[in-house]
Amino acid sequence: MSLYADEIIRFSSVLKMSYNLIAGREELKRLKLREKKHLISVALPFSDLIYGFPNLVPVFPIRMHVFKISKYLSLLGSSASLFGWDNVSKFLGYVKNMGINEVNKVIDQIIDDVIETLNEKYNEMFDIGVERGISSDFCFALKTLVGMYVTKSKNVSANMNYSIRCSAWNKYLESLKAIDGNVKQIWLDIPPRNIGNALELLIENLSDVIHQLETLSGNSYNQNIMRDHFKVANQIKQDYKTILYDIGTSDFYPCNPATFSEVLALLSISFQDYNSNAKRYAENIHQMVNEMRERIRKGIGMDVSEMPKVLVTPMFGGWEPQTHEIIYELGGRALYADWDVLRFLDEVPISNTTNPIEAYAKFLLNITENGVGCDNNTLTNSYIRVAEKTKVDGVVFNQLFGCHSISNCFTLLKEKTRKDLEIPAIALTFNRIGENLEQVKTRLGAFMEMLT
Ligand code: SF4
Repeated sequence: MSLYADEIIRFSSVLKMSYNLIAGREELKRLKLREKKHLISVALPFSDLIYGFPNLVPVFPIRMHVFKISKYLSLLGSSASLFGWDNVSKFLGYVKNMGINEVNKVIDQIIDDVIETLNEKYNEMFDIGVERGISSDFCFALKTLVGMYVTKSKNVSANMNYSIRCSAWNKYLESLKAIDGNVKQIWLDIPPRNIGNALELLIENLSDVIHQLETLSGNSYNQNIMRDHFKVANQIKQDYKTILYDIGTSDFYPCNPATFSEVLALLSISFQDYNSNAKRYAENIHQMVNEMRERIRKGIGMDVSEMPKVLVTPMFGGWEPQTHEIIYELGGRALYADWDVLRFLDEVPISNTTNPIEAYAKFLLNITENGVGCDNNTLTNSYIRVAEKTKVDGVVFNQLFGCHSISNCFTLLKEKTRKDLEIPAIALTFNRIGENLEQVKTRLGAFMEMLT
């Protein structure tokens, strides 16, 4: 897969983000043991409230694991702390250009292994979740989350639990106490619909969560810190949407389209906890936009105008990561846009005078009504909205084994894509990474023939 490595090393922002995602363990250890900060486990993009307290650190638990390439990435990280990421990236590009095979192989391996090593770890977590006795009816996401929790709960002080529409998700959250009774479970109940006094109720629930976080952190809640964080989060969302909609829909990409999909996959995973440092993440993603624009401006990249675009969704709960590579080999390009389908990329309506908790409550009610918590009809409309915005030529729907909620609207979606957008849609089934590869290739082959 040196195809990606060749390009990724020239994006210092992507290198940096990959490093922070995969080699975060040492940093998290330092934050916990030396700086005495509390790690708080989060899943789905529900980390925002934690950023209201500087001595609390949100973490998507898989990032506490050792990955087999951590040591190589750590070397890159050490070089970067001396010379800066831009110089490391330039240096790697220079070395690649020299064409020394052995060195090239090592560089390729470091980069290729970022996504591959993550996938291996996901499968390992899946197996641990199954061994732990989680119902076989649960989806890939929940099995892996149980695996992450079983292996890493000892490092966290609390787990942040947002209840959403999916009953399996809520059952999973309820089961966490039995796995590790020492970890504090902090619950945020989101009223199901924006009716009656839902906003007041949610503000009350949020205030209660804030109070629990205050107790944990030993510090008082400070409106200004929370407000500043939401502003940072909104900047991240703007840049994310720029990459997805401005660059992702253009006719000229700053890199190979399979690399571009890989970057979208990286964003999708890391967006959940902003790699435990929202300000750094905001800088990285902004730099990513600039680097992409600069390459486009210089004509470095690839003309993709003849390559049909395919929206592959949902993938946040587990998907076959080779999908975008297969689509690329078949002449197309894949886009991943789950967080916008689920409305997590909508901004928190914050200003210098608004109450941050009230603003966040409005944001959560919006995603509940129109995104992650909404009914199948509304959710289908959200898939259609994103398919329309990304101007895709087809939709590949990822049906997760065991998901009776979010990935359960294929029939409706297929009907609407045909009628409203006049584009085709197919469903692929998914249980575990690598399990169904041949079928995925065959189904995508037939599908792409319709588009090319
Ligand atoms: S909505 Fe589906 S994919 Fe998400 S947690 Fe629930 S069952 Fe799993």
